[in-house]
Amino acid sequence: MSVSTVVTAPSVCAPLPVLGRDVTVPLVTGGEVTYAALDYAASAPALQRVWDDVAAYAPYYGSVHRGAGYLSQLSTDLFENARRTVAEFLDCREGDQVVFTRSTTDSLNLLAAVLPADCQVFVFETEHHASLLPWRNARVTFLDAPRGPREAVETLERALADRDSNGPALVCVTGASNVTGELWPVRELAAAAHAHGARIVLDAAQLAPHHPVSLAGLDVDWVAFSGHKLYAPFGSGVLAGRSDWLRAAEPYLAGGGASRKVSRREDGGVDVEWHDSAARHEAGSPNVIGAYALASACKALTEAGFDTLVAREEYLVRAVREGLADVPQVRFLSLFGDDAPRVGVLSFVVEGWNSSHFAAALSAEYGIGVRDGLFCAHPLVRTLLGSDPQSQGECGSPEAEPGEKSLNAIRVSFGAGT
Ligand code: PLP
Repeated sequence: MSVSTVVTAPSVCAPLPVLGRDVTVPLVTGGEVTYAALDYAASAPALQRVWDDVAAYAPYYGSVHRGAGYLSQLSTDLFENARRTVAEFLDCREGDQVVFTRSTTDSLNLLAAVLPADCQVFVFETEHHASLLPWRNARVTFLDAPRGPREAVETLERALADRDSNGPALVCVTGASNVTGELWPVRELAAAAHAHGARIVLDAAQLAPHHPVSLAGLDVDWVAFSGHKLYAPFGSGVLAGRSDWLRAAEPYLAGGGASRKVSRREDGGVDVEWHDSAARHEAGSPNVIGAYALASACKALTEAGFDTLVAREEYLVRAVREGLADVPQVRFLSLFGDDAPRVGVLSFVVEGWNSSHFAAALSAEYGIGVRDGLFCAHPLVRTLLGSDPQSQGECGSPEAEPGEKSLNAIRVSFGAGT
């Protein structure tokens, strides 16, 4: 098979302009081509609107919360407005907190750090490592990969019913898989969790850039997502939701901003009163521009409406599938079935091809940027490939010889601007 049988995304007008759409890249075969960015699931190009907003604010930024000067006041207003914008974007409930973090990984590690004593955590083995690994200091139950949404709910219900105590419990689940793009039955999983007295955190890293996420509507206790997958630059993320566990715990980071009052004790030690607000877990000078950019992306998406984006991604997913349908070596990876509802993320292998070589050829010969590897979801990809973990190496690095079974996969992913 030749790489040229691969279909590129059709050039229908994009619902929201992004940066880098007209970048041309050199090809090994000579000449240049307009770069096709098809790796949105890793990091999405920033929206032009976000970049414009950041450029307008950048000359005026200052440190928040403590300065009396104009720039500091302005920055404090913008930072706190950004928090309100995110709360609206996520349809937060009364009393929910929005904590600015660095990323989804950071948000989930923050939640792991504030778990009540003896909390039991339930997580499917199919999760991205960011939702799979932060709980290792708690009592974790890893749930087997379900083969459909109903099986997912039943698996969770069984595990919760078998809990060894009535103590606190947390379920962590992803809204849309970064490997298959498949949508998980979040509302049903939340209902199952609550029916058994557990709480649930939604990893919305891949869901929030493609679908509206409502804390109230989905009835999840927390949501985590990253700015750089939501068309904002790197370095900002959010953990939003119930405030009680966040308030009851020691700060994630100790330092200025998190503390309301610090005094020296007579015995030589130090007493600290921590803030009860989101600031408790935002010690240090916060990433004001990052929060502002992320809020700008939330506004832009809300104003554009998700309907156009969803329709376009569904179209692109169909186009890729149909375009590759007559290539018998191509096998798409899916847990819930090829027709399961998904966001604009698709992974596949080309039997007989080394996925890394295939992805490199797409870039060098066609200017198409995709991702290859295990996508930081090793257990899931191995299940989907039916491969032996012993034969594989690091994230993204395993290679098969030509003609051997694929040890890793190729992922294409879309979003605003494709
Ligand atoms: N969760 C999912 C489903 C992801 O796809 C990713 C990143 O790919 C993450 C979490 C981690 O996001 P970040 O690297 O921004 O922390």
